[in-house]
Amino acid sequence: MSTETPLDLKKTINLPKTGFSQKANLTQSEPARLEKWSRLGLYRLIRRGSEGREKFILHDGPPYANADIHLGTAMNKILKDFIVKSRTMMGYDTPYVPGYDCHGLPIEQHLERALEKKGKKKSDLSVESFRRACREHAENALKSQTRDFKRLGILGEWDDPYLTMSNHYEAETARMFARFVERGYVYKGARPVYWCIRDQTALAEAEVEYHRHTSPSVYVKFPLQSDPALIDPALAGRKVFVLIWTTTPWTLPANLGIAVHPDFEYSAFEHGDEVYIVASELVEAVAAKCDLVEREAEGERITPKVLARFQGTKLDRLECRHAWLDRASLLMVGEHVTLGGEADAETELDVSEAQKKPTDSKAGTGCVHTAPGHGHDDFVIGKRYGLEIYCPVDNAGRFTPEVEHFSGQRVFDANDPIVEFMRQRGVLLFSEKYEHRYPHCWRCKNPVIFRATPQWFISMDRAHRDLVEKDEDGRDRSNFTDNLPESSFSSLRSAALEEIDRVNWIPAWGVDRMRNMLKGRPDWCVSRQRVWGVSIPVFYCAKCNEAVADPAVIGHVADIFEKESGDAWYTRDALELLPPGYTCKGCGAQEWSKETDILDVWFDSGCSSIAVLENREELRWPADVYIEGGDQFRGWFNSSLMVGIAARDRAPYKTVITHGWTLDAQGRAMHKSAGNAVEPEKVIKQSGAEIIRLWSASSNYFDDMRASEEILQRVTDGYRKLRNTARFALGNLYGFDPERDSVPVEQMEEIDRWALAELDRVITRVLAAYQAYEFHSVYHALYNFATVTLSARYFDIIKDRLYTFAPRNKSRRSAQTALLRIGDALARMLAPILVFTADEIWENLPNRTEPSIHLTEFPTASEESDEALFADWDRLFAIRDDVLRALEEARVAKDIGSSLEAKVTLEASGSALELLQRHQNDLRYLFIVSQVEHAESKGGESVSIAISVADGDKCERCWNYSTLVGDSDAYPSVCERCVAALKEIEQTEPSAVAPGQTLK
Ligand SMILES: [Zn+2]
Ligand SMILES: [Zn+2]
Ligand SMILES: [Zn+2]
Repeated sequence: MSTETPLDLKKTINLPKTGFSQKANLTQSEPARLEKWSRLGLYRLIRRGSEGREKFILHDGPPYANADIHLGTAMNKILKDFIVKSRTMMGYDTPYVPGYDCHGLPIEQHLERALEKKGKKKSDLSVESFRRACREHAENALKSQTRDFKRLGILGEWDDPYLTMSNHYEAETARMFARFVERGYVYKGARPVYWCIRDQTALAEAEVEYHRHTSPSVYVKFPLQSDPALIDPALAGRKVFVLIWTTTPWTLPANLGIAVHPDFEYSAFEHGDEVYIVASELVEAVAAKCDLVEREAEGERITPKVLARFQGTKLDRLECRHAWLDRASLLMVGEHVTLGGEADAETELDVSEAQKKPTDSKAGTGCVHTAPGHGHDDFVIGKRYGLEIYCPVDNAGRFTPEVEHFSGQRVFDANDPIVEFMRQRGVLLFSEKYEHRYPHCWRCKNPVIFRATPQWFISMDRAHRDLVEKDEDGRDRSNFTDNLPESSFSSLRSAALEEIDRVNWIPAWGVDRMRNMLKGRPDWCVSRQRVWGVSIPVFYCAKCNEAVADPAVIGHVADIFEKESGDAWYTRDALELLPPGYTCKGCGAQEWSKETDILDVWFDSGCSSIAVLENREELRWPADVYIEGGDQFRGWFNSSLMVGIAARDRAPYKTVITHGWTLDAQGRAMHKSAGNAVEPEKVIKQSGAEIIRLWSASSNYFDDMRASEEILQRVTDGYRKLRNTARFALGNLYGFDPERDSVPVEQMEEIDRWALAELDRVITRVLAAYQAYEFHSVYHALYNFATVTLSARYFDIIKDRLYTFAPRNKSRRSAQTALLRIGDALARMLAPILVFTADEIWENLPNRTEPSIHLTEFPTASEESDEALFADWDRLFAIRDDVLRALEEARVAKDIGSSLEAKVTLEASGSALELLQRHQNDLRYLFIVSQVEHAESKGGESVSIAISVADGDKCERCWNYSTLVGDSDAYPSVCERCVAALKEIEQTEPSAVAPGQTLK
């Protein structure tokens, strides 16, 4: 019986040890890390570290400072953070100045509702007080958004973001308006614009959204007034009607004409004693729909009798009577007329088309009801034919008193009475309910109308000579179409169309989308009948009504805004805003009134490149990249382009990236009310911001991105795998001093060199993906590297070496040298995405040089690639896959328990045998078995595998089997490898084996 203390073999095993816990505990560790970054002044440190480097500018599209952030807003900011952090780590100076869009309708509405709850109205407050309340609301909202964005780990100039309501920004917005005036792009005129009758304001293109809507579809006959023989002698003396089709019966009181296509063929067909004109192609469909076919005895239908066929031009400038009003309706020809099958109304951008054109090829007559006050195409053709821009509808959407029979009715309510009225008058041939995509107000969700009102416009097509369209006899006589000579200025549209070809669009379809958007967009209506915004800095002479939009005067006003904010427009009188002694150029008077409209908020945000990039020392114009959702083709991408061209004749961006929408697992839009919304706040509380970040990286943002609890659970599993991979590397670097212990590459074990070569491949792939903004590729490359290359292969193979070899053994140090490079590179490559976790990995690495990973750069891949090494190991891993399968079968058959109980016998020939011989010493580790033998087979390409029970006994220390267990007197229960290891430990780590200890 020995009295000596037995040696605890477990203590001689190098168990992993690290402060990097297995459980992430992100909900607590993230706020702590944010606190640490804040103490460190991390953003400032990054700026200081980047000084003098080449700049890379991502310009932030400002989110609206109204509601709390939702998943889409979070994802947008996170993608921006990926870009900023990755470019920083590529070695650029990449400052990030976030912004907020602070003016506009949603905030006004919010406050109006709040007032209503208190039983008050907006008109109970002075404009100044109301604006003050709007400002406070925006301030609170942006504070809370800032808190949420910071919580997501997004670094930036959060103490000094740009606000579209700051004095400086408001002044710059006014100056940009002056710039548009200076270039002759601005004019005031009556044009049909989107109009919300609930909010009583004009809306921008970007402020309408399309939803399903049911309208009455009506076929109405307009009696031809001109002599029908002018069309065709066959029609002489007949009662002829032109048939129109519309889904907005309420626009019929404003009908002033009917448009036909000059090149289409039209037919006049007979029904009873009446004759109807429609496009030839649609005769049968219209006749069937309106029941205009003759019936035979059996009720069988026959085609209507066509009396004449003729080209659309035959109808040009003939006249109909209005269907029921005592007024003419002019026949006109226009290329915009179609035979149905309208394009997607959302890309068409024109509500008049949605109102009047059929969405299927069966509807319509080829004769288009034209109300120049209620449609863009109608307006354009009406202008050409000298029609009045007639709009007998007031701000609230009610017919004005001049509208016989329907005066005072709201237009949408008037639809049914008008249909009934036409039925009684005998002018309605057919009506039915018709479902189509129809524009709705983005805020109040009510259907909008197209309505002509006096508004300020930015012309897309030419510079205007006169600021205000002349209005001599009360009728609009603007020089919109053919009457104006070509200006010396290039038009905004043509300059924009040219410029977009110089921009890099990601995905590439962006350029087509933008081109279509530019081609289709009507003049930009920039005035809003609202108060929370930058006032249109225009004055009117009280005597002669001359409008003054003088760039010099606006500059003077802007300087006042710079000091006092745009509130000055309301707190000062006109005389206090104008330069001293300013007199009317028209009549010499000095009495003025101020414009009451404000600028479109899209004009505000469109000015950001100038107001922000040019005004901050750390930034520069143009930006390298803009990244926003697809809705910004109508919105910010578009308005920014307009401002860029007006200001600098250039696009304000070099690259424009579009990301998709956030949808639920079934691909539906997320709504709080529908219960399918994934709320960032909730996810952060439950799992941590990293999960939202990783989700943002794991989905391909070029498409729509789906999120649900289940999807986020999968992301969380992915996170855990990445974390565990990092933890393995960190745990096994315990006691490793890179200076002292690193093994030069050429002396490393081959499998370690293979792992580093694989790492190089991943670095190359990941850096290219970051360069191309393909973050999902970054994620997938890193995830596969972590789970397949490392966890399933490399780590399994080196475990025995790491755990059982003497701590300072060179083979173990070789694996550690590889692990250090892998852990370090993994942390750096993950840093833009997993901002918290990568920093935590960094803290636990032994070679840390900077106080945060965010002050480091990306790893670089070594230039040379050892193809022979890859070839060898690809083949060895293929053999390994077969061996693992065979081991699994043996385990199922209960021939062996763990794989260490197995001996593998391989038979091979030729190069395979040669490969196995060359790697004889690696094979047992590769397969994780105790013994591997190989023999030459009789020809054949494949390697045959046999599994048997390993020879010898189980080593108590490493659990491998060996025939040599028990050979050592000093260490009788261990194998020959462990004997060697223990001897080495005794020499190099005497403390590990306490004096006097031996084995039992
Ligand atoms: Zn509305
Ligand atoms: Zn005057
Ligand atoms: Zn052993």
